[in-house]
Amino acid sequence: MLYNKSMPIKEDEGIVLRSIKIKEIDKIVTIFSRENGIVKGVAKGALKFNNRFGSSLEPLSHIKFIYYEREGRELFVIRTAEIIKSYFEIQRDPKIFEGFSQMVELLEEFVPQRVKEETIFRLLKACLDATSKGIGIEFSLLYFKFWLLKGTGFLPNLSRCKKCGKEGGGFLSPSMDGVYCNDCKIINTIEVTDLTSKFFSFISKNPPSNLKDFEIPENERLKMENLINELILYHIERLPKTLGLRK
Ligand SMILES: [Zn+2]
Repeated sequence: MLYNKSMPIKEDEGIVLRSIKIKEIDKIVTIFSRENGIVKGVAKGALKFNNRFGSSLEPLSHIKFIYYEREGRELFVIRTAEIIKSYFEIQRDPKIFEGFSQMVELLEEFVPQRVKEETIFRLLKACLDATSKGIGIEFSLLYFKFWLLKGTGFLPNLSRCKKCGKEGGGFLSPSMDGVYCNDCKIINTIEVTDLTSKFFSFISKNPPSNLKDFEIPENERLKMENLINELILYHIERLPKTLGLRK
């Protein structure tokens, strides 16, 4: 369908999550946009030699783009896109790229399409910036998962006992809605160590770039990762799959 004047031209900015080749010369691009949340558009001719998109549609590029919607069609048409920040160094490093691929998958699980989620948009952007400035991908990923759970309302308070209010670690409740201290625990579930509790309290008050100030032994980091992954798995299994009802 060609463009006609009844289709308003809009502008947004966003981070490219995925780019898929179609019909040899076009791309379908999934973008986490600041104004409209996760959206999908087609970039016509994006694979032609010397095309107008350049490298702007590479995954993880932060771009400004101009698009229009087509009536009754899910995909909008991306007319132009330009790079605000490329993150080439992240795209090139397989280990770091793999970490961000996990973030993209989680976004697609937790964030419904076309719902503005500016806080989570800024979270992804902050993790990209922190990683490009040298914060380890394992810490950026932990930070991202923590805030994704918090931002979508699935993170229990991990720094005080749900029953008596005592600060510090404890054991996660079976329904994953809080932590119980040693005196109040019902059964042994996943342990939340004092360091874990302290670390999560730190990341709830600091940007990811401040993670460089926090020393974590590898075995403790693995415990934190395990804890956050258990919370994520627990909630993913319970998310209704119908779009719009997932929050
Ligand atoms: Zn207690």
